[in-house]
Amino acid sequence: MSYPRVIIDTKKIESNVSTVVSLAKKEGITIAGVTKGYCAYPEIVKAYINGGVDYLADSRIENLKKIAQFDIPKMMLRLPMISQAKETVEYADISLNSELETIYALNEASESLGKVHKVILMADLGDLREGYFNKEELLHAVDEILELNNIELYGLGVNLTCYGGVIPKRHILQKLVDYKNEIEEKFEIKLEMLSGGNSSTVHLLGTGEIPNGINNLRLGESIIFGTESAYGRHLDGTDSTAFRLEAEIIEIKEKPSVPTEEIGRDAFGKVPTFVDRGVRKRLICAVGKQDIDLDSLYPLDKDLIILGGSSDHTIIDASDSKIDYSVGDILAFNLHYVSMLRAMTSEYIEKIII
Ligand SMILES: *Cc1c(COP(=O)(O)O)cnc(C)c1O
Repeated sequence: MSYPRVIIDTKKIESNVSTVVSLAKKEGITIAGVTKGYCAYPEIVKAYINGGVDYLADSRIENLKKIAQFDIPKMMLRLPMISQAKETVEYADISLNSELETIYALNEASESLGKVHKVILMADLGDLREGYFNKEELLHAVDEILELNNIELYGLGVNLTCYGGVIPKRHILQKLVDYKNEIEEKFEIKLEMLSGGNSSTVHLLGTGEIPNGINNLRLGESIIFGTESAYGRHLDGTDSTAFRLEAEIIEIKEKPSVPTEEIGRDAFGKVPTFVDRGVRKRLICAVGKQDIDLDSLYPLDKDLIILGGSSDHTIIDASDSKIDYSVGDILAFNLHYVSMLRAMTSEYIEKIII
């Protein structure tokens, strides 16, 4: 047995996927299952497919390559790099775009590969990450794309609650529908897909607040953990414990809660603050910020308090625990999104997929 290790329960993920997929189906919404959070391990991706996703989506070509074996349409989420135009067309059927230069490069790559690549144009509806902020520019892009032989304009998309933290609401998503209607009328075309965002749009499912016309969501967090990301609420009938980390205790000592000498910066360049709880029993675990994120790490023993850590250490207050820990014991934690991302990316963590 090697530690730290993360144990991934694909049955829990499959069940979460299928719960969210059926919520979305009721409103005629397809789901692109986003695989980037766990580096697209194919054994986990299978749970998405069994759970009923309609597409697979990732932000990195390396990950799309790993899932090429699955016979289901794939979407490139991050705006493609021109230097990767060829790989984008090879490994993705659809990509999200906002730059004509890139779309021209995709067109050339598609032509050389004898393919037609589908493009979703992104509209920036206020979150200020990617997409056309200006409608005239968006319409101009449509006009140009319609001239290209190896690009199909597949639809429009929006991404919210990523950079700006803007929460999806009906009137915001309605703008995307309005853009679609205007484009369809002006250019006499049909757009297949209106992709209304990520897990932060999930809170609107079942409320009647998703405007007619939105027919796709691109979901990672909500189908892995069953949490919508606008308000962080748990969805009924889902399980948020599919990713469990196990790490070994390497020190147990009684120590004061606050240093007595002058305090400078910690290992990550921040000046630390402390809560004075007196002398406490503290554990050190052999896992750290290189492998996990302390804010999305939840000990199964609810009486433990995570105090902090450095690259390779996690420091825990165990004074209130009913368990008498020994050095060499294993502590278990549930992971949420950012810890999952780091743990799955870290080569120092063993992955066990069950
Ligand atoms: C990561 C990403 C998603 C999925 O986000 P979740 O919050 O995990 O659902 C959707 N769309 C784009 C463009 C992304 O980059």
